[in-house]
Amino acid sequence: MSVLDCLQPQKVFYFFEQLCAIPHGSGNIEKISGYLADFAKERGLFHIQDEAKNVIIVKEASKGYEDVPALIIQGHMDMVAVKEPDCPLDMEKDGLLLQTDGDWIMAKGTSLGGDDGIAAAYALALLDDDDMPHPRLEVVLTVDEETGMGGASVIDVSMLQGKRMLNIDSEEEGILLTGCAGGARAVCRLPIVRENIKGTACRITLTGLLGGHSGIEIHKERGNANCLLGRMLYALLRKIAYGIVDLKGGVADNAIPASAAAVLAVKEEDAGALRKMTEEYEALLRKELQTKDAGVRVVFEKLNDGTHAILTEASKEKAVHMLMIAPNGIQAMNADIPGLVQTSLNFGILSMDDKEMTLQYSLRSCVTTEKDWLSSRVRAFAETFGAAFALSGSYPAWEFQKDSALLQKMIEIYERMFGAKPAIQTVHAGMECGIFAEKIKNLDCVSFGPDIKDIHTPKERLCISSVQRMWAYLAEIVSAK
Ligand SMILES: [Zn+2]
Repeated sequence: MSVLDCLQPQKVFYFFEQLCAIPHGSGNIEKISGYLADFAKERGLFHIQDEAKNVIIVKEASKGYEDVPALIIQGHMDMVAVKEPDCPLDMEKDGLLLQTDGDWIMAKGTSLGGDDGIAAAYALALLDDDDMPHPRLEVVLTVDEETGMGGASVIDVSMLQGKRMLNIDSEEEGILLTGCAGGARAVCRLPIVRENIKGTACRITLTGLLGGHSGIEIHKERGNANCLLGRMLYALLRKIAYGIVDLKGGVADNAIPASAAAVLAVKEEDAGALRKMTEEYEALLRKELQTKDAGVRVVFEKLNDGTHAILTEASKEKAVHMLMIAPNGIQAMNADIPGLVQTSLNFGILSMDDKEMTLQYSLRSCVTTEKDWLSSRVRAFAETFGAAFALSGSYPAWEFQKDSALLQKMIEIYERMFGAKPAIQTVHAGMECGIFAEKIKNLDCVSFGPDIKDIHTPKERLCISSVQRMWAYLAEIVSAK
């Protein structure tokens, strides 16, 4: 049964609901891509579905708009598929259970995929509308934006005529985005050697931190669990004889790690002293982080007595020193735009196996040369300890264009429609616009969208009235000459 039936704009919500019925988490995009291609086929619209399953749909200009330059409408078809622990849905196979509450749409127990299903819904509603005047529309819907922008990276856009692009992948009404950071993943691998000793294993867990998105929240200077763990291990070096059995922390290179844990082996009689030191460290962190990250905890657990494969003394010294001085956080603020982080890095994942300790980083900068400097710096850091360094997943910055004609037009229309000035911003997170700006010479691009809260979480919700206003705004932009 349709849940969004009675909402306006009817077509936008009709297509949004259709998309929500098709599971489309990143990596699971075959079906949704097929739906988009079928949509074009049924309407006789030119379309391309490439090998990666990106979809391009073209609608020729309406009468009287043949001379208006083509307009690219762009978003991504995949979503972050996450659910509450007790939600029975299989997000690989099941559609979402839509609900409304006042002015909001959400999905029961799961993320909604308003990011970025609303872009696809807007685009399909535009393509399906035969009354609205428009220039040549080139709709570009990519796959797997949420897992490294893989679709945008490989898409061939040489057939596009448009030099103007509306990206609909922003989540705050009233903000026009005009630039973003470029970034890359960096991995440092330190070779380690192990030896067996007898002792008592203890686990120390740093937890309760807020974490967050390293592109959006790095300026909040929340506790980084991996760095805080390194700091503790370094402090312990001079106080207690311990061996490292295992270290791990964080879940993604671009997420600020909210927890990290060390399994250490100590003499049985030292376990009590170790517990006491962790308690002291917790008190110290609670004080330091009382405003930025008040929930921090350091939990001590005594595990088993027995034989443990610990790092040799030389390996331990290297590993702990490396973690102690691991670079992290803001490296430079932008001088032109107050509050904008220009260059930063996040020590996102710490892991260890028999042969290596691995540090995974997300690097970001709005300035390409600073991104290069940053990766050189992490390389030098790795080399200092004899660790291997590798860079991957590099994506370009989308640099702010002061003289954007599209932006000027969008500001004018916004002021006329809403009687207020939109905020013009750039972000420290990565966006597909950077990749398109590199592929399409002289691309004039602006990103906007309706209000969506708590994206990438089961609490994600999309504002109905904001969808209405931004649809009216989109229609004005599309039909402006
Ligand atoms: Zn998105």
